Amino acid sequence: MDTEAAAPAPQFQTEQMSNWHPSTDEAGRLTIDMGAIAANYRRLCAMHPAARVGAVVKADAYGLGADQVASTLAGQGARDFFVAHLAEAIALKPLLPTDAVLFVLNGLAPGSELLCAEAGIRPVLSTPEQARAWYTLAVDLGRDLPAALQVDTGMSRLGLSEAELDEVLDWPDFAGQVNIRLLMTHMACADMPGAPANADQICRFARFYARMPSVPRSLANSAAALFLPEAAGDVLRPGLVLYGVEPGPGGAPGMQPAIRLEARVIQLRNIPAGTGIGYGFDYIADRPLRAATISAGYADGWPRALSGKGAAWFAGQRLPILGRISMDSCMVDVTNLPEGRIRPGDSVELIGPNQSVADLAGQIATTPHEILTSLGQRFARSYINSPSLSGEETQS
Ligand SMILES: *Cc1c(COP(=O)(O)O)cnc(C)c1O
Repeated sequence: MDTEAAAPAPQFQTEQMSNWHPSTDEAGRLTIDMGAIAANYRRLCAMHPAARVGAVVKADAYGLGADQVASTLAGQGARDFFVAHLAEAIALKPLLPTDAVLFVLNGLAPGSELLCAEAGIRPVLSTPEQARAWYTLAVDLGRDLPAALQVDTGMSRLGLSEAELDEVLDWPDFAGQVNIRLLMTHMACADMPGAPANADQICRFARFYARMPSVPRSLANSAAALFLPEAAGDVLRPGLVLYGVEPGPGGAPGMQPAIRLEARVIQLRNIPAGTGIGYGFDYIADRPLRAATISAGYADGWPRALSGKGAAWFAGQRLPILGRISMDSCMVDVTNLPEGRIRPGDSVELIGPNQSVADLAGQIATTPHEILTSLGQRFARSYINSPSLSGEETQS
């Protein structure tokens, strides 16, 4: 599984990015490096040799394409996959090896029990009602049904309390009917490794675990996988860091960036001093400048909150966003580029070597998760395998 671990760190090459397909890349292009995602997975495995490293591929693998990501990670040995909804699990199941398992993090929706059982999907049971429904179905079907059980250790989001767990474990033959394959909790502050809440949650989790000590434990998201070894448990649930994005201020040591986002220049114009730019004239040119209109707006997932503060990049130059971002486009200042250096049809970098997902999130005080999950819908996606693995490029 680790045969390629010694390969040099694959990096995005500019040449790989520049072959536009004008008919399909009208807005811009999201390039996803499956080689980097695979390498990040292997790196987590190497950091946690005693645990199983799962993969969180909910929300279409954070907008990067769950089909592609899950198949790639299965090829690296991943067998524990996590999604939010049953429909996501059902869509992925046929693409995965038969020994892979899919967990539904949002649990068992009323009425979906039979569908879930027949599809061979494992719900994450988070309330006594969900546990009761799964238990009843197992009794009715006359076979035990696998599931994960989530307990609340302090985040107040999802999961059973200690009293609720005791109640459930008291049901006649609960353990015989419901085959608990994972005891799960979620950490509220894993991106702040020094926070006292982490030790509190780990300590509370131990009390739950004492009631079912033979069940594998799962506590760790990306931040915990990187920075909280005491919360590693037996099955890790990383999402963000697989995609090469830093889950917190500690960065993502040893992980490789896996995405690049580019938009196309639609029009260039010279703007006299005193001219308003964009909706509401939020920006008025205080000097003559050259502006480029680029084909990325908030409907593409390019956050409107970057209006007046974000930037695109071209040829090593920062191109500040001028005024408000529109639905399908925005204007950037290209005055500092030599005349004729940038032209309609050229592509500018929105996410890449000069500007990471975490940088963008920091500029507008949101999480990198939100930036990433917003991107996937409208940009043309293109998949590459970083050069150390293969030079193949495919389009979708
Ligand atoms: C989304 C999610 C994860 C993954 O979180 P990352 O920060 O992307 O690693 C793990 N566990 C649960 C329960 C989640 O909802």
